[in-house]
Amino acid sequence: MTDLHEWLTGRVAEAETAADTPAAARRCEADRRILDRHRLDLDDPYEPSCLGCGTYGDLESPNTDNINDCPELLDLAHAHGITDAILAGLDRPEPPPLSPVKPYNEALADALDRLRSTTPARQAPATFRPAPTRGVGIPITGALTKQRFNPWR
Ligand SMILES: [Zn+2]
Repeated sequence: MTDLHEWLTGRVAEAETAADTPAAARRCEADRRILDRHRLDLDDPYEPSCLGCGTYGDLESPNTDNINDCPELLDLAHAHGITDAILAGLDRPEPPPLSPVKPYNEALADALDRLRSTTPARQAPATFRPAPTRGVGIPITGALTKQRFNPWR
């Protein structure tokens, strides 16, 4: 399987072998840096996205969903003589298959098992326990603090 990144890595390796001037060697090093930045994002389980192209939005959706569509790599490939025919013949990375969904009763049983195995707050070390309160969020000891107005307690 050869995708755009792998094709470019091969072309840069050939150019490094043929580089006979310091300028040509620097160009190859620059190409390697681009290839190192714009590579498959292994932390994205949903899409074969480009790490170097970054993300957008609160959900950190990738700017480039498929590494073969990375504009930086496509420009670099143009410099290395890619043609439409070569590009069309490259493999296009696909997202990994989704894991099968558990039936509801199994998922519920797993959730209950996890809940039963947790440590209750009263058994946690004192530093992790909420301050003791009387009524609704009023601390028993010490001066009134912001905890009194915390709606999550
Ligand atoms: Zn990219």
